[in-house]
Amino acid sequence: MTHPMLEAENLVVAYGKVEAVRGVSLTVGPGRLVTVLGANGAGKTTLLNALMGVLPARGRIRFEGTDLTRLPVEARVARGLSLIPERRELFSTMSVEDNLKLGAFRFRGKAGGMAGGMASGGGDLGEMYRLFPRLAERRRQQAGTLSGGERQMLAMARALMGRPRLLMLDEPSLGLAPLIVAEVMRTVARLRDEGVAILLVEQNARAALRIADHGYVLDGGTVVLEGDSRTLQGDARVVETYLGSLSVDDAPPSRAASGR
Ligand code: ATP
Repeated sequence: MTHPMLEAENLVVAYGKVEAVRGVSLTVGPGRLVTVLGANGAGKTTLLNALMGVLPARGRIRFEGTDLTRLPVEARVARGLSLIPERRELFSTMSVEDNLKLGAFRFRGKAGGMAGGMASGGGDLGEMYRLFPRLAERRRQQAGTLSGGERQMLAMARALMGRPRLLMLDEPSLGLAPLIVAEVMRTVARLRDEGVAILLVEQNARAALRIADHGYVLDGGTVVLEGDSRTLQGDARVVETYLGSLSVDDAPPSRAASGR
């Protein structure tokens, strides 16, 4: 009976005459972790930017029953959408803690009141330090001096300070060592378990499918494969066809041989 939280229908996004996203439809249910996989240039970042309202799109985007298609970025943020771009965009000369405080900026002067999302109402520093103990240890350190994995954690924590209802992540594994990728992915899964819906864009299909509930594979701006993540994992050969080679991380494709 419940509506999907996010519903994109037939999205088309073009740079001039070139369509980078060509008729993509996807849904994310409340509290679900959905991944969009695809090789370089498949259109993943373009899709996220269109959902966030950074790029104009044709088609339709609905979020919790509201049509967002024509709404600007700020209105989407106010409704609970949050995007962590690939570049992570921290304030590098500011401390970890000051970066986190800026994440709560949209709540200045307002009482909390977010329904759902971080279960306890979230958004406070203590909650972030509970979720990300490494950040607690480094609260006075300049963000620019953090390791890649720590920066990704800080980007996530800062986004959560805005109490998003749907968190979109653009390749959080990018440039990280396999063990750190695993740690970041565990954290993403934990956020889902805390009630935040997540749309995770990744080239690292294996790592993403391990934690996702559902996946879409994008190739040439269209969805070429879709399914629950078990099915996609079992179908590693097909996924590989569209991803070039599956990004290698720390584990063999264990489910590929046995099917699902
Ligand atoms: P990557 O993993 O490499 O970031 P991606 O799947 O996120 O790839 P996009 O960045 O969305 O892919 O790019 C999709 C297509 O759109 C590519 O062919 C790219 O060259 C093109 N493109 C992206 N940004 C622009 C832009 N600002 N102007 C023109 N073309 C662009």
